[in-house]
Amino acid sequence: MEVYRRFINTEDQSSNVGKENIKKHGSYGALLFDNRWKEKRAMILARDLNKCVICGFDEKLEVHHRQYHYLIEVKKFKVPWDYSEKLLITLCNSCHQRGHSKFKVPIIYL
Ligand SMILES: [Zn+2]
Ligand SMILES: [Zn+2]
Repeated sequence: MEVYRRFINTEDQSSNVGKENIKKHGSYGALLFDNRWKEKRAMILARDLNKCVICGFDEKLEVHHRQYHYLIEVKKFKVPWDYSEKLLITLCNSCHQRGHSKFKVPIIYL
């Protein structure tokens, strides 16, 4: 359990986390094929030395968002590459899936 501390950013959860009535964000789908995401992803992988930050595995790596940001004014989630680097971490696919099954990613309303 302890190793999953990094899965979500616990410092910065404001009180408006967890409001209902906005559909579950889940997957970014096609946006993950965008070049801007590929660049951001490559940057995060390099920063984390191409290893899962939880178990150190160096294959099947994915970049996880520790928060999702919903922009109230435009009624949309931020695009995946528009997050600060501190909210993105490298995980192997099994730590990633396990993390998502244990924790709900906080949604921050901006
Ligand atoms: Zn891992
Ligand atoms: Zn994730």
